[in-house]
Amino acid sequence: MKVYKFGGASVKDADALRNLAHIVKEYGANQLLLVVSAMGKTTNALEQVFDLAYQQQDFAATLGHSQQYHATIVNELFPEQGHPVYARLEHLFSQLQQQLQLIATQRKGSYDQQYDQVVSYGELLSSVIVHYFLQQQGIANTWVDSRKYIQTDTTWREARVDWAWTERVIKRDLPALLEQQPVVTQGFLGGTNNGLTTTLGREGSDFSAAIFAYCLDAESLSIWKDVAGLLNADPKRFADTVRYPLLSYQETVEMAYYGASVIHPKTIKPLANKRIPLYVKSFLDPAGEGTEICDCRFEVTTPAYIVKDRQCLVSFSAKDFAFISEKNLGTIFNALSELRIKINLMQNSAISFSICTDLHEERLQKLIDTLQDQFSIHYNTQLQLYTIKNYSNDSIQEIMAGKEVLLEQRTRNTFQIVCR
Ligand code: ASP
Ligand code: MG
Repeated sequence: MKVYKFGGASVKDADALRNLAHIVKEYGANQLLLVVSAMGKTTNALEQVFDLAYQQQDFAATLGHSQQYHATIVNELFPEQGHPVYARLEHLFSQLQQQLQLIATQRKGSYDQQYDQVVSYGELLSSVIVHYFLQQQGIANTWVDSRKYIQTDTTWREARVDWAWTERVIKRDLPALLEQQPVVTQGFLGGTNNGLTTTLGREGSDFSAAIFAYCLDAESLSIWKDVAGLLNADPKRFADTVRYPLLSYQETVEMAYYGASVIHPKTIKPLANKRIPLYVKSFLDPAGEGTEICDCRFEVTTPAYIVKDRQCLVSFSAKDFAFISEKNLGTIFNALSELRIKINLMQNSAISFSICTDLHEERLQKLIDTLQDQFSIHYNTQLQLYTIKNYSNDSIQEIMAGKEVLLEQRTRNTFQIVCR
């Protein structure tokens, strides 16, 4: 039994879907579960629609664009009038419209909770289209609602999985379905025990696929991407990137943690726990070797370059030149944890403590409000965090050139700077 995950770029238009069907036909296993993301940039578009509705502004035009985008793909793939895909999509869009209307008029529930109810439609739409298209291509398959299987708590937008419940229901239902034909489901989504939708964090479909692979004791998980495999840097930023043919779980977890965008950081743990190999493959070159990530151990020598944008460096100093004590640190860490602000890098000196985090304006403001009575707080935004794993002197020279460095940190394997 294998799990395939298809990301947004692999379902972004009609040709992409034809290619997906080709990959399933040519390379698919006997028992196959397909996890799909929203099409192209749909999640970003739905975030915009949601923001407008939440701010009680007119969202019709922005929603209309997304509807048109899906319609163009479907019209090309299903020329037959009255095909059932049309009714399903219409139904989904009218549900979405109602949901948005409700948000705009009633503003019930928190921003994050309502966000999940709206942004989740991207995956519902794409999975319905993939389901019908594979069917039309002669690949009979079952569409499954992943919200009924991936059970989570109510940490909206970053829901935590109830593993015991999730594994039980997946094991109860899916093996029998998979024995008959492939199953198509959504990435990114979870559900609470009272029927609300949650999401697992942006780019979380990889994680969904790993959850299914874990619970089904899959033979492997393949993530189909628009790159040749796991590369040592983002080819959009660096020339002459190198593909890693083989990586250990450990090495990959670290890269994902530092912000390598190829794989969602939570993906590896469930796979490693059951030693399920992960293949990162190119949907543009399905026969290509890709990268295999597995339970292996060997030294990686090629430096990996990882860049995070939109970083913010916040420093706290105790008032009156007092030292930063462990008690002070406790207060700061508590506030960070309460506000779900993640530390990408930290450093302390005698009288100050600094953290580098992703910029969330709202959360940053709340952090300042919470702590400003006890600390003097300064921050810089619009920064970048560069990490080099397995660095060499040359690689350091290369990334430092022309940058203003605000903070630098080095361990035996890893070199990091916060800069602009
Ligand atoms: N569609 C979601 C996102 O763009 C989840 C994913 O693609 O993995 O964040
Ligand atoms: Mg996506």
